[in-house]
Amino acid sequence: MLGTGLLKGLAVTAKNFVGSFHDPKRYTTVEYPEQPTKLPENYRNFPFLVFDGEQPIDGLRCVACKICEAECPPQCIYIIPDRDEKGRPTKKPKVFDLDVSVCMSCQICVEVCPFDAIKMDQHFEIATADRFNGLLLHREDLAKSDAYYHSIHPTEAAQVDEILAEAKRKAEAKAKPAAPAAPAAVKPPEPPAPAV
Ligand code: SF4
Ligand code: SF4
Repeated sequence: MLGTGLLKGLAVTAKNFVGSFHDPKRYTTVEYPEQPTKLPENYRNFPFLVFDGEQPIDGLRCVACKICEAECPPQCIYIIPDRDEKGRPTKKPKVFDLDVSVCMSCQICVEVCPFDAIKMDQHFEIATADRFNGLLLHREDLAKSDAYYHSIHPTEAAQVDEILAEAKRKAEAKAKPAAPAAPAAVKPPEPPAPAV
């Protein structure tokens, strides 16, 4: 019958309209930006660097091994390892730049990092009129605390904590000096054979 599809469509609209008043599972309008959006835990956009403790740069987990730089498909990571006054590597990045205008959010840098030092962020309000410098993030912009990591990815961060704790425990056990071997039992001398 002519107009059946139209009536069906209107019925769906009416059902959703009425349901939106009492069913919290239905999509509701979020008054963004006044009302912050609740993102799913697995949402990700661009990487950030995790630091432990209170000092963002000194506490970075990154050891500047450059694996992520080598593996990033669009080559948007740039790292210069730091060195001490004698020219020895400090295992910290002196420069860690990430161009988020090029990053494709693939998470490969996270997958390849052996130190759980780089993770995916959820911060998406990065719009800027400065196409080049505004979207080139430096070490200081990328450093975010482990507490922040826990706040955006609690399940994943708890798993990472367990892995790091286990690795630390194994390293400490390996570094412990081996217990001295027990002295060999001294065999008492055989008694002399009785005279016949
Ligand atoms: S983030 Fe990870 S993979 Fe990248 S340089 Fe630092 S330690 Fe290496
Ligand atoms: S998410 Fe992908 S594209 Fe972005 S920095 Fe990491 S490896 Fe590169």
